[in-house]
Formats: sequence, structure tokens, C-alpha cells
Amino acid sequence: MTVPSLTLNDDHSIPQLGFGVFQVPPDETSATVTTALEVGYRHIDTAQMYGNEKGVGDALASSGIARDELYVTTKLNNANHAADDVRRSFDESLRDLQLDHVDLFLIHWPLPTQYDGDFVSTWKAMAELTADGRAKSVGVSNFEPDHLARIIDETGVLPAVNQIEVHPGFNNEAARAANAEHGLLTEAWSPIGQGQILDDPTIVEIAQRLGRTPAQVALRWHVERGDIVFPKSMRRERMQENFAIFDFELSPDDVLAISGMDRGDAGRLGPDPKTFDRI
Ligand code: NAD
Repeated sequence: MTVPSLTLNDDHSIPQLGFGVFQVPPDETSATVTTALEVGYRHIDTAQMYGNEKGVGDALASSGIARDELYVTTKLNNANHAADDVRRSFDESLRDLQLDHVDLFLIHWPLPTQYDGDFVSTWKAMAELTADGRAKSVGVSNFEPDHLARIIDETGVLPAVNQIEVHPGFNNEAARAANAEHGLLTEAWSPIGQGQILDDPTIVEIAQRLGRTPAQVALRWHVERGDIVFPKSMRRERMQENFAIFDFELSPDDVLAISGMDRGDAGRLGPDPKTFDRI
């Protein structure tokens, strides 16, 4: 199975499918990521706040896979938004990942009610990290349209991606549209709604008709819409299932039917970025 690559607005390319490690316990991360690499995943999405960068680094180091075949994303800790802390935090992430560069470094949350609402200075410090190639690309996560417009207006630097909550139960169309308008790709987090949307009759009907599983249909919905996904599982057979989504398609009608599962804000599984303030 070949995973397509998408081109970012900074001309770097990113595999459209990766493997997420949120809530993978630190002492099980190395073994879990090793299994994901064996299955074929080459794009890993972690974060300093997940506490498992070291396990990711151990798995990458022992895999024997060439660095240029891997795509690694990590994210800035909410506690480290001050400019000097951004640099220190990034150094710590590289050390724990045992890498000399990451492919993508993201502001994890905008925290508009913290740091005097100044995520612009944080973004400027992030953007400087591409100068020596230690971060190939930089981007943001959980940025609402007004947050995005503000950093772009005030710095002129476009994020490569905005990683936001998107799944059939929460289409998050306004944020996706803002991303597209600025020319940046959407990364859809919790792409299978943490497993909670998989028994929805719309998805089950399509899955049965196509001879696929509900998780494959949900992931393929994102792919048809051009978004990047990195489902998480600690089980090899589910990792394999989630990886096997590039040998079938959904019709436009099926894509629309799944989009119709949107429950607006009621469908959110994670916090609202406008008010989330945990440091
Ligand atoms: P997900 O939508 O990937 O769901 C994962 C859960 O779904 C698993 O724990 C398992 O219970 C279940 N599952 C997985 N594969 C399955 C299958 N084939 N069949 C049935 N059930 C299955 O949720 P997630 O882990 O929250 O999101 C994916 C990744 O997105 C994370 O690991 C992380 O990398 C990223 N993320 C980022 C943010 C952010 O703030 N930027 C927030 C949440 C997640």
C-alpha cells in the first residue's frame, strides 16, 4: 500500500496518512511505534505534552529506517509559549526524539486567554526555527479562523498546516475553510472520533456495501476531502486496518452522507480552543 504525499505551502511534502501517539503510555510507546513502522507507517505525530517523545525516538532509532523516509511531527508544550521557552522546549523535543530535525513543529494550542493573548510572539519564535533546518516546517494546531488570520496578518508567515479536531460527528467546516482560504492544509485530529462514531448507521451501511470496516470508511472520508490523518491504535490488526485505505474510494454521495453526521459544537470530543487554557 503506497501512502500519497501532499505538498505543503512551503514546498515540503507530507504523507497523507500517519500514526498518532496521543494517550500511548510512555513505557509502551517504543513497542507501539515499532509495530506501526512494521505495518508500514512512516509519519508519526507526537507532542511534548504526550510525554512519549523518548519512546518515539527509541523506536525510530532502532528501526534502521533512513531518516529521509520518516516524517516526524511534534508540538510545543502549553507551558512554553514565551519565546525563550519555545527554543528551549524545541531543543528538549529534539533531544528526546534523538533527531537532528523534525519535519513539522506545531504550536499545540493557541491559549488565547493565557500569556496576555499573545500567541503572535510565540509564532514568531516558532518561525525562526526553520532557519537552520532543525524544523523543516512549522505550523499550528487548534487555531480558530481569527487566531489564524491574526498570526498571518501580524507576521506575514504562513503556517504549513493547522491541526484541528475533525471527524464525521464534528466537521469543523469554518476552521477547515479558513485553512483552505489561506492555502494551508488541514490535519484532522481524532479522525475516527476516538472510535465513538463507528457504529453510526450511515457509516455502517457504507462499510457493509463496500466490504470495508467503519474505521476505513471514516478515514477514507478525510482522504477524499484532502485532509491529513494519523489514527491511533495500540493493536497491530487495527493499525493494519487503518493503513489499508488507499485501494478504494467513496462516491461523492457517500462523502456527503458522512458529512451529514455533523453535530456542530455538540459533536466536539476535545476542548474548545477559544476557551481552553490548561498549561
Ligand atoms: P482517533 O480518532 O485516532 O481514535 C483512536 C481510538 O479509536 C483508539 O484508541 C481505539 O480505541 C479506537 N480505534 C482505533 N482504530 C480502530 C479501528 N480500526 N476500529 C475500531 N476502533 C479503533 O483518536 P486520537 O488518538 O484522539 O487522535 C489521533 C491522533 O491525533 C492522536 O494520536 C494525536 O496524534 C492527534 N491529536 C492531536 C490533538 C491536538 O490537540 N493537536 C488532540 C487529539 C489528538
